[in-house]
Amino acid sequence: MIGFFPGFINEIIGLKLNIRRASIIYLRKDQMIFFLRLLKSENLFYEVSDFYRSFNSLGYTKDVSEIKPSNSQIYSIYISKDMETVKELKTLDCARNTLTSEDFFLKMGALLGYPKCCTMSYIAKLDSPDFLNDSKLCPELSDDVEPFLRLFNVRNGEKVNYLLNDFLFPHLRQHIVCNYACEESIKQLVKITDYLKKKFPIEYSSFEYLLKQSLMYVGNRCFVSFIDLKEMGNSIYSYSMCTFNFNKLFEQNSQNGFKIDESYQIFKHFLEGDSFENSSNSVKIFKDKKLIHEQFKRHKYDCFFIHVI
Ligand SMILES: [Zn+2]
Repeated sequence: MIGFFPGFINEIIGLKLNIRRASIIYLRKDQMIFFLRLLKSENLFYEVSDFYRSFNSLGYTKDVSEIKPSNSQIYSIYISKDMETVKELKTLDCARNTLTSEDFFLKMGALLGYPKCCTMSYIAKLDSPDFLNDSKLCPELSDDVEPFLRLFNVRNGEKVNYLLNDFLFPHLRQHIVCNYACEESIKQLVKITDYLKKKFPIEYSSFEYLLKQSLMYVGNRCFVSFIDLKEMGNSIYSYSMCTFNFNKLFEQNSQNGFKIDESYQIFKHFLEGDSFENSSNSVKIFKDKKLIHEQFKRHKYDCFFIHVI
């Protein structure tokens, strides 16, 4: 019987509800025994990739020639309700370098049940000059395309549907949305969360609480999350508490020298304050309506605010 494992269970439920024909999850060897047993108990078919990805200073890579300790080797697990689809997915993943990226992502997106609008947008954005120019503003994210693409897909201060909140891990889906109001993605996630609410009411509600926290990207792969955030008008927001999150997606990269000191200084001011004003040039932090700090933004992704609703 499957338990509640955020970031994993939504993939399995997506298969059960026929939202997708197949799914890929990424696991280290030491995590495999447990999850593979779980897949069997759910009558799902799977195969493990013949190659692994590993974390290095440049993030995810497929370089298998580099010898790494086994806990940094990440294998792809191809899953479906039938073995034929498992094989189809595995073969496609291995053929990545023989196909054009458009062909590869279209086929992969269709198998994994990604909305077509999101797959098309992903392909188009990767080569767009705006994306390439903007990604240079966040050099700490430029080694892995997807974290930056998430920021690129949203505007500073934009309201984001909590179901689509994927800025921190775990979240509800794997695909990168075309925009943070994508109706096709929301439709899929409503089906998945309806199932989760019925089956795991307590676990789901604490997961939903995390998804509903608004965020500010403060650089160096760090976010400040705001608890009980309220809009006060004129881009002013109050909050009862905040937390500092080093994005778990990149936790293993922390030893590779990402400096969090500067981001932590900003967090300390948020911790002291109780409200802030977000504009395109700066973030003003207040305590009892008194200005205690003004942080000037160096570029448009600096202190980038994501208002989750
Ligand atoms: Zn979409």
